[in-house]
This record gives sequence, structure tokens and C-alpha cells, in this order.
Amino acid sequence: MNSFTYDALPGRVLFGAGTRERLADEIKRLNCAHALILATPRHETAANELARRLGPLAAGVFAEAVMHTPVPVSERAVKVAQSLRADCIVAVGGGSTTGLGKAIALRTDLPQIVIPTTYAGSEMTPILGETADGVKTTQRTLKVLPEVVLYDVELTLALPVAVSVTSGLNAVAHAVEALYAKERNPLVSLIAEESLRAFARSLAAIVANPKDVNARGAALYGAWLAGTCLGAVGMALHHKLCHVLGGTFDLPHAETHAIILPHAIAYNAPLEPVVMRKIAEAFGTEDPAVGLYDLTGRLGAKRSLKEVGMPEAGIERAVMLATQNPYWNPRKIEPGPIRELLRRAWSGDPP
Ligand code: NAD
Repeated sequence: MNSFTYDALPGRVLFGAGTRERLADEIKRLNCAHALILATPRHETAANELARRLGPLAAGVFAEAVMHTPVPVSERAVKVAQSLRADCIVAVGGGSTTGLGKAIALRTDLPQIVIPTTYAGSEMTPILGETADGVKTTQRTLKVLPEVVLYDVELTLALPVAVSVTSGLNAVAHAVEALYAKERNPLVSLIAEESLRAFARSLAAIVANPKDVNARGAALYGAWLAGTCLGAVGMALHHKLCHVLGGTFDLPHAETHAIILPHAIAYNAPLEPVVMRKIAEAFGTEDPAVGLYDLTGRLGAKRSLKEVGMPEAGIERAVMLATQNPYWNPRKIEPGPIRELLRRAWSGDPP
């Protein structure tokens, strides 16, 4: 018998195809009438189209979301929300857009409806990472947890294959680390395993045919579950390394996750044989670390940090930053093995 503690998070999820048609009803259900729609600059047209369809329920569009949620952008967005008298936020996009919505909610308490278009999973978490003066700090507060999430598989059909793969592997990393989390519990572990199975059956199918609605549906389902894991339990070495690498060398978020994951799994494998068997079973492989490394290659994603712009001279700095403050991980964090992990990940060697 295992003892555990489980904290449930509130939230409403609508999942399906064409779910965005229910946005107006969801805004009214929150007793709101003026939604500020958020997007990245690239998706301004889509956000304007959404606003047009909402008619008077749309207060306006703010299409300036960028990666890593810079505080100046969030403060500008808050001013826009206030000047338009917005009474809720609708964030359409990936983790960058969701992050902006959370940053506005943190400062205004406005309710959020998120329509995710990647597999990053931020919509299911009470976590916000913000960047100020080049430093990214992360906080956990229920103030940023979205009230409603509308998963519409149709909005993911145009997600480029390369982004789909790395974003999917980013989600896989949430599920993997949930399985060996300090706060692991039977419910979250079931969710994590189901998430891994959903990605195991969908990622190659998406690469073969990006418009495959069934594969897209499975990946989005996996993303919901992985995001739920990320919101429910604390993460470990893998997320710490990605945070350090992304923040220090400005590396792309999802690609960095895809590169590090097999190495983080290999690092923890000796201490977590049961978890390793679960990951291996989900992906139909003997060795979970090598299996994920091979899968990453077959899916066409980059496997070395040098390919995404990390300088070799940065390895020592990353070792220092990843080992200086203690944090939970199944296996002790030690500079020697972490240096070896990073050296392999930098070169693109197998784990
Ligand atoms: P992103 O939101 O930056 O999107 C990646 C790229 O995909 C962008 O160029 C975007 O324009 C494009 N895109 C998104 N949806 C598309 C679609 N349907 N069709 C075509 N193109 C589309 O990246 P992301 O990986 O989703 O999110 C990364 C950010 O989210 C990071 O800042 C990360 O720290 C944060 N994040 C936070 C949490 C959390 O719990 N707080 C969880 C995961 C990620």
C-alpha cells in the first residue's frame, strides 16, 4: 500500500471538433459580456475572425503575445483590457498566448477561457513563468488557473508538423516526470500513462498525415492529460534542465524539451525501474531512454542542443545553474553525471 496526498484543481473542459462554436455560450456562462481576445502577432487574423463571430461579446483583440511572457507586454495588455472594459480573457494559441492570459488574470482577476492550439499543456496548470530584465521566474497560484478550456481539434490541424512533434514531446515530458514526481499518486499516474499511450499512437501518424483528425484528436487528448499532470504534481530534473537552458541560452522551449527528455529518463532510470517499465510499455520499446531517442529521430526532430543554438562553452554554466539549488529528483543531482548528460545532449549522442 502506498500513502499519498492528492489535491484536485477546479476547471471546466470542453473537448471535441468545432468546440470553438460554443465560445459565446461559455462567455455568457461566466456572466461576462466583453471578452478581450489574445493571440500571437502571427495569428492576429484568426483572432480578428473570432472577434467578428463573437460580435458584441468581443471587446477587442490584443495580438502581441510572445514567448516567455515578458512583463512589459503583460502590463500593456492589462491597460488595453482596462481601457476596453473587458470582463474576461479569451486566449487562442499555444503556451505563449496562454501565458499572457494568465499574466493578465494574475493582475486583474479576470476569468480566462483558453483555446489551446499546441500540446504545451499550460491551460491546465496554476503555473505562470514570467520574464523581467532577462530573468524568468515561475510562480504557482490558483489566480492564474484558467476557468474554462475549449479543446477544438480543428484548430490544431494547421499546426506545422515540426512544432507538433516537439510540442507533443514537451507534453510527453510532463507525463514522464509526473510518474516519478515527489507528489506522485495513483490518479495522476493513471492520467500520465494514458497520456503517454495517446502520444505513442498519434505522433508518427501526424507526421505521416498532419490532417489526420483521429491522430490530432489523440494528441490533443494526450496534451490535456499531460497538462493535468503538470498542474497536479511537481516536476524534476528534466524540467529544471529545460528551464535553465531556455532561460540562459534563449533556446526554443519545445525543441529543448524534445532533446533533453531521453537523457533525463536515462539519468533517473536506475532509481525508478517500475516507472521505466511503464514508459517502455506505453511506447512499445525495451529501453525507454533509447526508445524515445530513436522516436525523436524518426519523427524528424532535432536531437542535439548545438543544433538549436547552444554554445559548447555554455555546458559548464548549465551544470553550475542546474546543480546549485537543491530540488526534488529521484536520483541525486551531481555535477559529474549532469555534465555527462549535457555533453551528450549537446552533441546529439544517444543517452
Ligand atoms: P508557442 O505558444 O510559442 O507556439 C509555438 C509556435 O507555434 C508559435 O510560432 C505559434 O505562432 C505557432 N502556433 C501555435 N498554434 C498554431 C497553430 N494551430 N497553427 C499554426 N501555428 C501555430 O509555444 P508553446 O510550445 O505552445 O508554448 C511555449 C511557452 O509556454 C513557453 O513560454 C513555456 O514556458 C510556456 N509553458 C508554460 C506552461 C505552464 O504551465 N505555465 C506549460 C507549458 C509551456
